[in-house]
Amino acid sequence: MAHSVVSEAEAILDKEFPVLDKGFVRLVDYMGSDERIVQSARVSYGKGTKSFREDAGLINYLLRNEHTSPFEQVVFTFHTKMPIFVARQWVRHRTARVNEISGRYSVMKNEFYVPAPEDVALQSVDNKQGRSNEQLPAELVEKVRSLLEAEQERSYASYTELLDENVARELARINLPLSLYTEWYWQMDLKNLFHFLKLRMDAHAQMEIRVYAETIHHLASLVCPAAMKAFDKHIRGGVRFSAEELTALDKVLAGEENPLKGRDLQRFEIKLKEHRQT
Ligand SMILES: Cc1cc2nc3c(=O)[nH]c(=O)nc-3n(C[C@H](O)[C@H](O)[C@H](O)COP(=O)(O)OP(=O)(O)OC[C@H]3O[C@@H](n4cnc5c(N)ncnc54)[C@H](O)[C@@H]3O)c2cc1C
Repeated sequence: MAHSVVSEAEAILDKEFPVLDKGFVRLVDYMGSDERIVQSARVSYGKGTKSFREDAGLINYLLRNEHTSPFEQVVFTFHTKMPIFVARQWVRHRTARVNEISGRYSVMKNEFYVPAPEDVALQSVDNKQGRSNEQLPAELVEKVRSLLEAEQERSYASYTELLDENVARELARINLPLSLYTEWYWQMDLKNLFHFLKLRMDAHAQMEIRVYAETIHHLASLVCPAAMKAFDKHIRGGVRFSAEELTALDKVLAGEENPLKGRDLQRFEIKLKEHRQT
């Protein structure tokens, strides 16, 4: 069977999709497509691809029943550029193969992330890891942005001063902040990409990584649209209930009183509400 060639994906190969103020995602290469998923699932009967509708149906069936190994046959290589604090969250996904720019070898560019005015926010009071939705006065937003920028400029000036003194690049870089941009090649198969996207497109993920996950979702949808649709339906749009929550759901559907109380009831209701919004 020949290589999978998907015209929609070929059209955007190597194009930079801008993310944040200076970052991007670029699809460098892909192996496999929806077709490869159905071929590998049907290999046991020696039957190839059928109509698009039947293939999409099979892909949907596979994901609904967690028959996930055929999705590992599709592999993506992305070139991405993001602030180091985003890369630190991203690299926790251990099933990728990564090659990152070396600050020991290369001189790091004077490129730092500064949040857009509308993304500057206060600490959330109800979510220890999140931001408040409250609108900030323009002067405070400007203060935040200019303090960040001033610190970035100072730290890059010290970096170049150390380089000018011929201090080793691996030492000169150690005080550069987490807002500095880094770049890497990142390769992952579709099954593990589903997991990454489920976690990093979620409303609980930090906005600055969520926007990368959303761009990757868009690019992956050009390579394997049926698989990504099945992902939206069964993984991203799905929700996991505990045994107690399922009992509560049964009771509520039967018109009985919800047995959950206090924090448990609150968590259950939030889960249902968030699920309806996806
Ligand atoms: C909103 C959010 C907040 C977070 N906050 C924190 C935090 O405060 N502190 C912190 O340290 N981390 C935090 N994390 C990171 C989180 O704990 C995970 O490390 C990260 O999401 C990667 O998930 P994973 O291990 O399931 O995925 P991957 O590493 O991508 O692995 C995918 C799957 O492969 C399997 N797998 C991979 N490697 C192994 C292994 N060695 N052994 C067994 N199974 C394996 C597992 O089934 C795993 O789910 C946060 C993540 C999110 C999304």
